[in-house]
Amino acid sequence: MAEEIKAAEAAGNFIHEIIDEELAEGGRCYGQTVHTRFPPEPNGYLHIGHVKAMCIDFGTAEKYNGMCNLRMDDTNPAKEDDEYVRAIKEDIHWLGFDWGDRFFYASDYFEKMYELAVGLIKKGLAYVCELTPEEVQANRGDLTHPAVSPYRDRPVEESLDLFARMRAGEFEDGAMTLRAKIDLESGNFNMRDPVIYRINHKPHHRQGDKWCIYPMYDYAHPIEDMLENITHSLCSLEFENHRPLYNWVRDNVDLDANPRQIEFARLGINYTVLSKRKLRKLVEDGYVSGWDDPRMPTLSGLRRRGYTPASVRNFIDRIGVAKVPNTVEVALLEYCLREDLNLNARRALAVLHPVKLTITNYDEGKSEIFETENNPAQENSGTHPVPFSRNLYVEADDFMEEPVKGYFRLFPGNEVRLKSAYVVRCTGCVKDENGNVTEILATYDPETRGGNTPDGRKVKGTIHWVDANTAVDATVRLYSNLFTDPDPDAADKDFLSCLNPDSLEELTGCKVEAALADATAPMSYQFMRLGYFCVDSRDSRPDHLVFNRSVSLKDGFKPGK
Ligand code: ATP
Ligand code: MG
Repeated sequence: MAEEIKAAEAAGNFIHEIIDEELAEGGRCYGQTVHTRFPPEPNGYLHIGHVKAMCIDFGTAEKYNGMCNLRMDDTNPAKEDDEYVRAIKEDIHWLGFDWGDRFFYASDYFEKMYELAVGLIKKGLAYVCELTPEEVQANRGDLTHPAVSPYRDRPVEESLDLFARMRAGEFEDGAMTLRAKIDLESGNFNMRDPVIYRINHKPHHRQGDKWCIYPMYDYAHPIEDMLENITHSLCSLEFENHRPLYNWVRDNVDLDANPRQIEFARLGINYTVLSKRKLRKLVEDGYVSGWDDPRMPTLSGLRRRGYTPASVRNFIDRIGVAKVPNTVEVALLEYCLREDLNLNARRALAVLHPVKLTITNYDEGKSEIFETENNPAQENSGTHPVPFSRNLYVEADDFMEEPVKGYFRLFPGNEVRLKSAYVVRCTGCVKDENGNVTEILATYDPETRGGNTPDGRKVKGTIHWVDANTAVDATVRLYSNLFTDPDPDAADKDFLSCLNPDSLEELTGCKVEAALADATAPMSYQFMRLGYFCVDSRDSRPDHLVFNRSVSLKDGFKPGK
């Protein structure tokens, strides 16, 4: 962990700089340890954007030996679900973060929030307004005209009575609101007597029918922070203009705590959408197979795709924490995965588009075993046996009957190395009545066991292969970007019209080496020359292996470019 924090510091983290200054001044943390919170709204699965927030919330607490709460921000009764709560917890643990015994629901504070709102009314700092939400909007004024609020000066007693009756369910949705009495002329429109409670006759996923009025985010969030003794409320940049209101609530409700809100830039990734609303649309309308579809930028999707916690956290460390909005290349995310899998994934042989290769001078019935290194990127990673016989499979495109210029693989008369086995010379091929190649023929040189040429002759091409007698069938899914447009998340774009129709290609009848017969998720492999692949956690069975390509071998990203 210490090393990851160092990496984060190298990339720059202005939040840590602020906290360092506060600590140096002696006491901005009010003698408390640094205490943050991660407050997801349980209305969808966590995505890679949330990982940035989590690395900031949990990471800052870790760095300062503090604490980080996990809080379900469930003040909005719409579309919240226990399935999401369960998935959120699982994803956070998978990343390696933990909230200990500090798991909270914002909705558990409804009674307290109500009581504090009554306190504001009594202090003359809030009032019941009978404008509809549309009328409030229409009366908010502009930069040269103040807002108009006809109910602003109604007597405290009247507001107290109406607020109680709002709670009791006497009024329809939208008939009334509770508004904070702040400043109708403020240049910050969030301060022009913002609505802090609205009527909504909708049951809540945990509170049932208990409430028909719900607090607005800007009112609820600072109270949640204060009730949990949060010192630093770290959130994304869209809340910057709401900070004066955060501070107003903090300073005017009857609670004794002094949290500070600091905003950071949201993470964006090209060729991706990072909004739960849009991701839910993809799931609900069947554009993907679920929240954990390996093309989704959700943590469950990334996990099923073969991403490791380390690769995701390294990615976040690399991009740093700043205030300027950042859209990062998806290639950087892939780079981080490739880097991790290169070190940790076992090497294996697999053929995705198999065609038979028969070694005509190798005895029928004979076979031998080649011990191949599990992972040359590690010291002492061990070896595993790879069987070899007269009947092999190779990739269809590793053979050309009439080679183009610069083609060094199998063609009649040419020698190639079968990775770790022998050098073979292609002698021809067999075709079906349509002229398609059904079998490639070759002879092997027994002197080249292990792939070396004792006479030092050059063999340019090396190809991968599997033994036909022992190979196992597999389905392999190849993925590319879910969107063809680099910025499908742009406000002016219909993200559904940017979907890539070819983002999933499923290959059946692939052949993988025998050692993979009992592969189970979350195992990852480097298939020689093809890329990194993992066992699909949902669909793979011992008698029906399914692999996902996590990332290709080709490196589209150069660090420091
Ligand atoms: P979405 O638009 O995906 O629903 P949200 O902000 O409404 O995002 P929340 O569940 O409310 O989602 O987010 C929990 C925390 O994660 C918040 O502090 C929010 O600021 C942060 N967060 C969400 N998306 C990103 C992102 N792309 N980059 C950084 N932080 C994010
Ligand atoms: Mg939100």
